[in-house]
Amino acid sequence: MSDAPSSDASSSTDRLVLMRGDLTTVAADALVNTANASLMGGGGVDGALHRAAGPRLRAECRKLRGCPMGEARITGAGLLPARYVIHAVGPMWRGGQHGERELLANCYRQVFALVEAHDLRSVAFPSIATGVYGFPIEEAAPIALRAMLSALERLASLERVTAVLFSDADLAVYRRTLDALRTPSPA
Ligand code: ADP
Repeated sequence: MSDAPSSDASSSTDRLVLMRGDLTTVAADALVNTANASLMGGGGVDGALHRAAGPRLRAECRKLRGCPMGEARITGAGLLPARYVIHAVGPMWRGGQHGERELLANCYRQVFALVEAHDLRSVAFPSIATGVYGFPIEEAAPIALRAMLSALERLASLERVTAVLFSDADLAVYRRTLDALRTPSPA
């Protein structure tokens, strides 16, 4: 039997999973949508989640009457393999001088505030804003991963955070970034 302290078994990095795949097929308490401010659906992740969830998701979203950029809202998940969808409205990249990084960090913070408020055990994310919204993935990955690690440290009841990347190239950026965040910088 091991004498290792129990915190070792549930360290933040053990509970963070990076994978390539389609978010709509991932089972989790909540799937995060990268939505636009109307919350009425669009392309990319948003379109795929709405197609897989069925019309009930759209009906729930309509009642919310939109969501400002940098914020997040929660709904049921329709036919998706989840209990909830958390809709985060990421910033459109406009060169990096318009508060884009702070707005993206705020999206992740708001998602985790909802995860905490609903006492969720697992949540799966796409790479928010790095598709049609044009946020460079090299800039977005450290913001996403720092938020995930910090939430895992803070929330003991959170068992798994999954980042679902759509391409091998995006997954490689996330892996490299996570390695760099784990490596202590020289004193
Ligand atoms: P945004 O408008 O926030 O940029 P997009 O949906 O255009 O959102 O893209 C965000 C990221 O999600 C992109 O890297 C895109 O390739 C990826 N993506 C698109 N569809 C899926 C999916 N079904 N599962 C996971 N990731 C996806």
